[in-house]
Amino acid sequence: MLVAALLAGCGGGDAVDPAPAASVSDGASVADGSVEPTPAPSPVAGRIVLLDPGHNGGNATNTSAINKKVPDGRGGTKACNTTGTTTDEDDEYLALPEHAFNFVVAESVKGLLESKGVVVKMTREDDKGIGPCVDKRAEMAAEVNADAMISIHADGAAASGHGFHIAYSKPPLNAAQGPPSVSLATALRDSMSAEGLIISTYIGKQGLSARDDLAGLNLSKRPAALVECGNMKNHDDKVAMSNPQGRARFAEGIAAGILDWLTHNSAQSLRAVSSGKTKSTTSESASSSTKSTATTKSTTTAKSKSSSTTSTTKSTPKSTSSSSTSTTKSSTAN
Ligand SMILES: [Zn+2]
Repeated sequence: MLVAALLAGCGGGDAVDPAPAASVSDGASVADGSVEPTPAPSPVAGRIVLLDPGHNGGNATNTSAINKKVPDGRGGTKACNTTGTTTDEDDEYLALPEHAFNFVVAESVKGLLESKGVVVKMTREDDKGIGPCVDKRAEMAAEVNADAMISIHADGAAASGHGFHIAYSKPPLNAAQGPPSVSLATALRDSMSAEGLIISTYIGKQGLSARDDLAGLNLSKRPAALVECGNMKNHDDKVAMSNPQGRARFAEGIAAGILDWLTHNSAQSLRAVSSGKTKSTTSESASSSTKSTATTKSTTTAKSKSSSTTSTTKSTPKSTSSSSTSTTKSSTAN
């Protein structure tokens, strides 16, 4: 009866035996005295991440709504949202609109993060709506109390350039946009490179691009980074983006970077940053979060692997909307 009472009282699985004799009976004892059979709590479980798949499927047919001006975070205005770019149709592949690609990749990242216990919020729940405006997306990061916001895009640049890059806000407009955002961008760069994805050959420095013109980043009060997975106008990048295997690698790389960054940035330290309790930094020096510099070299070694992406066989992209009338800009983020 006493045993029953004890069992009823504990939550199950995390029993701490008060009686020393009891621990002898289960042969799994590791060390005497402080028996702690349960694994250490995950540093990422319960953490909150806002994923922001760029653009939206309804933007192209609702231009008046998405052309509305919203604050850009630096005293000017920008369009509420844009249509994004698209791959070009050829004999093998249908055109793949950026908004559809972004959404599919974000959904995969969501699943990967949730499998580790991360709480994932999305700036849009489907690929059929309009907007939301970029300022609204940035506000959501604080509204959902996100540890970080990661925007997912694909670029539309000159066909010769390829590879991914990560944008962050510079100069930072608050503490969260300082070192935490730079280290987030760096973690994403490193993890995507480790996944064998090619670092941009046409923009940024070693895959990192400091930007002052991206409203979503400018307006974020939480650490934020924007992933341009590749250049939709480049053939190799298009092949990778148009295949499920290729998309899976983008998702794996992004998820790994987020998990790594969460592991190295406690919720407590991030709360201190967003509440302004740490020194606000305008210099980037603090951004060299130890590993950021150390891992830079690894980026080149990944190149050899990446060619496997392009060898994947033909598969029709699940392009939902054929209304890919969008114009191409050098950068598809706003
Ligand atoms: Zn975009």
